[in-house]
Amino acid sequence: MQTRAKQAGPEPHRAHAFPVGSEAAGPAVPRLIIHAVELTVGRDNCEARTTLSLNSHRFMGRAVGRAQFDEPWQLAAAASVDAMQQYLQQSATGPPTPQVKLLDTAALTTGIGQDVISAVVRISHGNRQLDLIGSALVRNDRSHTAVAAALDAVSRPLASYLLAAKRDSEDGFQPTILEIGPTSSEARARAPETECPPQVRFPALGVVITAAAIRTAAVDRDGRVLAEARRASRARVEPEVTLGLALQSVREALAALNSSGPRPGAIGVAVPGSLHSQDGVCISCGDFPAWRDIQITAPFADEFGLPTALLSPTQAAAFAETCFGAAQGLADVLYVRVGIDIDVALVLDGRLLPLPRMLPGQPGHMVIEAGGPRCACGQSGCWQALAGREALLARVVKAVRRGAPSAVAAAAGGNFGAITPGYVVRMAASGDAVARGALEETGRYLAIGIANLATLFSPQAIIVDSSPASLGKALLHAAEGTLKSTARARVLSQCVLLSPELGDSAPLLGAAAWAARCAP
Ligand SMILES: [Zn+2]
Repeated sequence: MQTRAKQAGPEPHRAHAFPVGSEAAGPAVPRLIIHAVELTVGRDNCEARTTLSLNSHRFMGRAVGRAQFDEPWQLAAAASVDAMQQYLQQSATGPPTPQVKLLDTAALTTGIGQDVISAVVRISHGNRQLDLIGSALVRNDRSHTAVAAALDAVSRPLASYLLAAKRDSEDGFQPTILEIGPTSSEARARAPETECPPQVRFPALGVVITAAAIRTAAVDRDGRVLAEARRASRARVEPEVTLGLALQSVREALAALNSSGPRPGAIGVAVPGSLHSQDGVCISCGDFPAWRDIQITAPFADEFGLPTALLSPTQAAAFAETCFGAAQGLADVLYVRVGIDIDVALVLDGRLLPLPRMLPGQPGHMVIEAGGPRCACGQSGCWQALAGREALLARVVKAVRRGAPSAVAAAAGGNFGAITPGYVVRMAASGDAVARGALEETGRYLAIGIANLATLFSPQAIIVDSSPASLGKALLHAAEGTLKSTARARVLSQCVLLSPELGDSAPLLGAAAWAARCAP
């Protein structure tokens, strides 16, 4: 386990950091996934960008052509081959690096009227070369199909090369990319899978609705905010009023976008509460007590004619950190937000675990100490009753009332009610023993809950967030020692502990990015 302050992107040898095999199951199947196929068609030129991943390592390729001569789907196939070349460049164990090249693509209609796209790809390794053909039936769009055809041609050699590279690193065998294919039973058994995700639709709009404010941002594929709108919000108003303000904020953001620029392709709406994300329904909401089974997505989809997704702000922040922030490029991330409640979001295989499969706030009520302190939910020993911000403050007040020497109460003007987590963190940094002790004890309990979740889900990264950000960092630091001693070493050996990087804008960016990739 390591603490990582910042990582700009995937590391070149990440694929080898995450082993091809796991201890329990033996060598795992290399899993080649199409994450995104993006096309930009201009008057003269046309560009395709394809993002693939293999064993949690993402890699991107691009191809540019002339709009008059090249079909966008042909460029998408070329971009996918370029992505594979980038991957081979990064993961090759020694010279010569295998070379992949797209030789030809073709579209045809079968005798039963089914459209098919085929791709011919050449793989060269040293002085040997092999031409392979792959094909795929057209289902959704031709660009995804063309990428699938190119992967169909080369995925098995790629898998075999990686398996050979793995053996090489362990036993001294030389990688042999050409001794593969149907003649190799190992390669046949372990051919990668391919999956087609929905089309990526950047720029996209992120909308975050809370009792404090309603915010909308148009976000591009790099996480840049192109336009923003903000409106005041109130908790005790009818849902129609709040949704009306949110629709208005979307109109304002659209008006603020440069009219000659690309139009948004999807909307992501983040609302705190119990959600049924697939139905677009908010079942109940702590910020808006009057909300019961409110349809959230339909008004946006109807007015703007765009696919609209619903998620929680915690989920949105977690997804933003995997797209643009601290956990960029990682596919399995556990995100823990510590407030009065403890909320958790999980990104698995690059996708958010949908609500209500994991109810917002529910992980905070895992019992981690039988007979522990009473929780607001009525149980005893809940995680948030031991590791939430109220538990931290209660520890400080209890120690001061017992007469432990501390400057915390004086710093808050002698008023226990004025002690904030920010005070506690500052006092701990200045050496106050009570503040330090309270943070350490809270961090230990936080670590127990995190270790339980990490044992279940084996994340590649754990992000601990809180407000103020200094509290999240202090708790993460305090939790680290207990995590190392509590969680099974195997679970955490490849896991990094991270602080979030995107601040207040994370839910906006994540709502947009999730909608761009996964809005129905
Ligand atoms: Zn509870």
